[in-house]
Amino acid sequence: MTLFEKIVAREIPAKIAFENDEILAFHDVNPQAPVHILVIPKRVIPRIAEAQASDGALIGRLLLTAKQIATDLGLSETGFRLVINSGRNGGETVPHLHVHLLGGRPMHWPPG
Ligand code: 5GP
Repeated sequence: MTLFEKIVAREIPAKIAFENDEILAFHDVNPQAPVHILVIPKRVIPRIAEAQASDGALIGRLLLTAKQIATDLGLSETGFRLVINSGRNGGETVPHLHVHLLGGRPMHWPPG
């Protein structure tokens, strides 16, 4: 089981922001911004580099869910950032696809 599957199964506690039958969103344990939420598919896709065409609709709903959470938290006007890390150079540490939703402060570019 991935760490995030254990959060889905409630074996590891997390502050849940949104849930439906295929998606879970929860607050990052080590937040990098005032709002830092991880949006994951309950079904494991290890990383975006391994996503298949058949995962496309689910990945679309993942992004729309992140957008909806940002809107619900009042981040639409000031803006927010969505990040997907993939693989070692991408900074991925948990092999279960997740979208980082970051907001509540200005973001910088280029990222580190
Ligand atoms: P990645 O580096 O793979 O893109 O992101 C993994 C994220 O998961 C990190 O931001 C990290 O802080 C977060 N994380 C790691 N372990 C836990 C945990 O047990 N609970 C929660 N809520 N977040 C976690």
